[in-house]
Amino acid sequence: MQRRNASTRPTPAVHLLDRAIIAMRGIWKGGHSSGEDQRIAISALRNIIATSAETHDVSEMLQSSIDRLERLPPEIASRRSILEHLATDLKAVRPLLGVTSPPKEVGKLNSSLGERRAGRPAPSKRKSVAVPRVLTPDMGVSQIPHVGDSISKKLEKLNITTIEDVLRLAPRRYIDYSNLVEIGSPFGLQGDVTIRGTIVGSEVDFGRKPGRFTIRLSDRTGSIRVTWFNTYLANQLKEGDEIFVSGTIRGGYNGLEIASPEWERTTSKGLSTGRLVPVYPSTSGLYQKNLRSITRSALDATRTTITDWLPDVRDFLDAELRTSLASLADTYEQLHYPDSLDQSRGARRRLMFGDLLLLQLGLLRRRAERQAIAGQALEVSAEVVHQFRQLLPFQLTTAQDRALREVFADLQRAQPMARLLQGDVGSGKTVVAAILAWTVKGNEKQTAIMAPTGLLAEQHLASLTSLFAPLPDDVRPTIALLTGSTRARARREVRTTLETGKIDVIVGTHALIQEDVAFHDLGLVVIDEQHRFGVRQRQQLADKSRGNMPHVLSMTATPIPRTLNFVLAGDLDVSIINERPPGRIPIRTRRYGPAERRDAYDLVRREVLNGYQAFVICPLVEESENLEARSAISEHERLQRDIFPDLKLGLVHGKMAPRTKDAVMAAFRDRAFDILVSTSVIEVGIDIPNATVMLIEGAERFGLSQLHQFRGRVGRGGAQSYCLLLTETSGGDSDARLETMVATDDGFVLAERDLELRGPGDFIGTRQSGLPELDWLQSGFDTRLLDAARHTAERIIEADPEISFARFPALWPRLQQFWSTSRPPDLTRT
Ligand code: ADP
Ligand code: MG
Repeated sequence: MQRRNASTRPTPAVHLLDRAIIAMRGIWKGGHSSGEDQRIAISALRNIIATSAETHDVSEMLQSSIDRLERLPPEIASRRSILEHLATDLKAVRPLLGVTSPPKEVGKLNSSLGERRAGRPAPSKRKSVAVPRVLTPDMGVSQIPHVGDSISKKLEKLNITTIEDVLRLAPRRYIDYSNLVEIGSPFGLQGDVTIRGTIVGSEVDFGRKPGRFTIRLSDRTGSIRVTWFNTYLANQLKEGDEIFVSGTIRGGYNGLEIASPEWERTTSKGLSTGRLVPVYPSTSGLYQKNLRSITRSALDATRTTITDWLPDVRDFLDAELRTSLASLADTYEQLHYPDSLDQSRGARRRLMFGDLLLLQLGLLRRRAERQAIAGQALEVSAEVVHQFRQLLPFQLTTAQDRALREVFADLQRAQPMARLLQGDVGSGKTVVAAILAWTVKGNEKQTAIMAPTGLLAEQHLASLTSLFAPLPDDVRPTIALLTGSTRARARREVRTTLETGKIDVIVGTHALIQEDVAFHDLGLVVIDEQHRFGVRQRQQLADKSRGNMPHVLSMTATPIPRTLNFVLAGDLDVSIINERPPGRIPIRTRRYGPAERRDAYDLVRREVLNGYQAFVICPLVEESENLEARSAISEHERLQRDIFPDLKLGLVHGKMAPRTKDAVMAAFRDRAFDILVSTSVIEVGIDIPNATVMLIEGAERFGLSQLHQFRGRVGRGGAQSYCLLLTETSGGDSDARLETMVATDDGFVLAERDLELRGPGDFIGTRQSGLPELDWLQSGFDTRLLDAARHTAERIIEADPEISFARFPALWPRLQQFWSTSRPPDLTRT
């Protein structure tokens, strides 16, 4: 990222603003000079309005602050509260006055105004370079006129550091002032709407932080509540005013409302009628008007410098795409300021296609590189396999059989296998791995099985041991375990026997990829719950082979929608076990509303009294493992104290050390607790057959795939099991999601439905380790585009497997750049 080498000098307006805030500090403190301070603050703010040609919005805000300063109540507490609100509001407009970061004094006084977050001193040197009028997309955002350090930092929160990032910042939606809806619309209000109405009532609430300002907006068909989470609008918007508001409809307790919408007076001159106005994903302190002026400047400054790589591949495109793809500069323009919604959709498709193509090119190249590596062709003897199958206590399902055949075909090739085995929880993946390990032993080679936790490794060890038990002593594979908690002595022994080839199958955790672990002849690597490992870790284990690259089978219990396999399974081949062994008792799944909580607890108690155990999953707390842990701790306390005082409750959460977590899980398995309270860490495939209840709090907050993973934790013994979905609210897409959970327990069906309901974001967010960032996919996804990208990429690779610079001068650097965001091993090696 490029940085300007000198900071912007604060404008006079900023000095005035800071002066006002300093004076407000005096008023806040009280004392004899506070009347004087009040006058200073007011006159400073007036001066800003008078001297700087700032936006209409800012001056309106300043005017309302003045009004409030003039009418400060005498009572000290409410006086101070208003001053604090005002200071916060004023600081929020500071960036709009074109500054860098606040000077020292402001930091000090903000803290005396009850604000902890003190500003840092800014060196106020003169700008030494002129801002160029023409910019290139690779430049840092601070090159854009009026973007200083403070705005740059805020942009960084939106993952925007370069001008190209600005160009690619997709608006969340567009305001269309020419297309209004009526409040009483017969279709009901939904999603994003723009309304024209008159204010018929308003209310200010200073009591909360942030303060609130609520109006009732009415048109000839009805009225609706509109709320802002600040109070300075209270002096701008009056009863009888006619305004536009544009925002998202939400269902509140008292009916529909719109929160924090954009608004404009119907008389506003700034209103760009007939144009679609972008609304961007926002971050605090960055106003839509800021963002619009930033994108506008970026578009104007890069008009002539944007290099488009798509012409490089034009010949490889389908005829339809070839004619429909606009130039990149036009595409960006239409993304931000489209002539029509159709145009904006076209622009998104164009950009998404570009990313998907880069993705597919990288994946195909990775695959081609892999296929060029020498592997180990193994012999798969039908007779030997048959011998083992005869000894199994059950018949393989058709799906297991098919997966096995696909893997066998790979093993017999002299290229290393890279296959992903997807199968729902309990679909029987372990036995497939066991048969493979048996086959590999027949070739006098070793198998390594890596699991994400020590407990899961132990579980695999136990399953394999019992699956191999019926084999005659002289041919039975020898198995060993190596995890973080294996003692030094045992560890040494495992290492030597592994190296001399006495061990056929080693089961373990990350401990397996440690430096000092060496194999005699590693033929197969099995990675369980592959999404829990990074690409590099998977690669490291495979690299342990002394001879040719071993075969690698990854396994996952997280079904991926078929359409996303190309994206998420990356360059892997995919086998699917979409069938469960016969004779399973289906898990009963039910929703419980807030009023039915008792019923759910009664069921838990009943099961525990019958000798079974239960899981309680606490609600998801977005993006904070700390908060999530804390909420689990208090939920554990509450349940133990108020609901189940007579039962034994355990607790596990993500902030515990892995070893502690394992210990709690093991204690639960050994029935030391009746109920295990947990955050979402429980997700991975732990097997506790005695648990029959999965109670999920705040079920509406989880994605379908995750709910399904939770549910898979029960129903593993022979008893009837239950999944209880407790909800706090209802409505929106969570209803559809929970309905689906109740209706089906087929993970693949659920995954497809999840994709439909929530888009690919969840799948990509959690499972794409090792892939470049795919921001476009998060915001909308089109299977046909993916197919088109795949085909185009295939044609390109066929024509030039190297995707050489000579042939693709614009594409080549872009491809490097795109893939460098995650550094997949195979591309960086070249
Ligand atoms: P997962 O795919 O979740 O790893 P497992 O391999 O642990 O599933 O298998 C779950 C259970 O089903 C195990 O107890 C296993 O022995 C049993 N099982 C696997 N395959 C079959 C089958 N074909 N018929 C009956 N039971 C099976
Ligand atoms: Mg498993």
